[in-house]
Amino acid sequence: MSQHLFTKSSPEHQGLFGLFPEEISEKFSPSTPFRGKQVFDWLLKGVETFDAMLNVPKQMRQEMSDSSDGTPFSSFLVNQQQDDDGTVKLLIRLNDGLYIECVLLTDEEDRKTACLSTQVGCAMGCTFCRTAEMGFQRNLTASEIIEQFFYLSRITGKPSHIVYMGMGEPLANIGEVIRSIELFHYPKGFNISARKITVSTCGLTDGIKTLAQDLNIPVKLAVSLTSADNEQRTRLMPINKRYPLPALHRTLKSYCIETGKRITLEYVLIGGENDSETAGRALAEFARDLNAVINVIPWNPGAGNGTQFSEPSQQSISSFCSLLEKEGLRITRRYRRGRGINGACGQLAGNPD
Ligand code: SF4
Repeated sequence: MSQHLFTKSSPEHQGLFGLFPEEISEKFSPSTPFRGKQVFDWLLKGVETFDAMLNVPKQMRQEMSDSSDGTPFSSFLVNQQQDDDGTVKLLIRLNDGLYIECVLLTDEEDRKTACLSTQVGCAMGCTFCRTAEMGFQRNLTASEIIEQFFYLSRITGKPSHIVYMGMGEPLANIGEVIRSIELFHYPKGFNISARKITVSTCGLTDGIKTLAQDLNIPVKLAVSLTSADNEQRTRLMPINKRYPLPALHRTLKSYCIETGKRITLEYVLIGGENDSETAGRALAEFARDLNAVINVIPWNPGAGNGTQFSEPSQQSISSFCSLLEKEGLRITRRYRRGRGINGACGQLAGNPD
């Protein structure tokens, strides 16, 4: 587990995109606070050079340039791929030479969702996930998280929704994730509504409580469950050893009651592993007293440990979903978007090759 868990984010180490207007002023122009807002507005337009910030004095532009290698962005876009279904995947190089990926999904209603990474690699070790194979390398800053959104906006127009579900476990980098959410939601910035922002976690109960207590923005919560059997879940998701199902269930129940919000339980459906009737009934039992919708995500080949797992058949997906519906649960099915470019759930790996 990351030692950075639950630390607060500080403006000290941020790239410009991770700063509020007043923080930009404090850093570069403390005697003229309005300059921070001017710079912030230029950043919002996605300008790629400091020279483009026409109403900002040359000296301030120079100071910002000197402190950030000459460009407002701390990362740069290396490659983009587009699947036949419209899914876009970007490869981004960070300033220390590491790589991350992010994805834009367009659904049937033409909603554009930016799927953002929060870490380089991941320490959680979920066996069905390709990112896990990288191990954990480092946390992203809020600026690096927000820059992904800019790159996606440039290619497809501004995404309407955000989901923290790319590479990494968002709640293991909660300080930077909270800062980035506050910036996305900031009324003088992107002004993205809380109900259009989802944080997806593998179930760090401490992080779920912190998110509910420390973030005053009622974002949506999604939890990757994938098994409602404690032994099987520990095998598929080793983090279950630290945060076992009974503790996760208690936390989610309190979360639903305290926030009055519905949560999403993500269930990666793996052929022959967790798609049986018994598994479906266990899931129904787990979810019965939660205010939850189940998102069934058919496992993607190319997502971790490919030799060990199988894709669920169409028939098994349908039977599993029917069983849940008969049990009275609300479900949604994730369609298999982005598979042609390894941009589907669990397939991100930040590989420049
Ligand atoms: S599924 Fe998410 S939490 Fe699990 S290893 Fe992959 S990126 Fe990490």
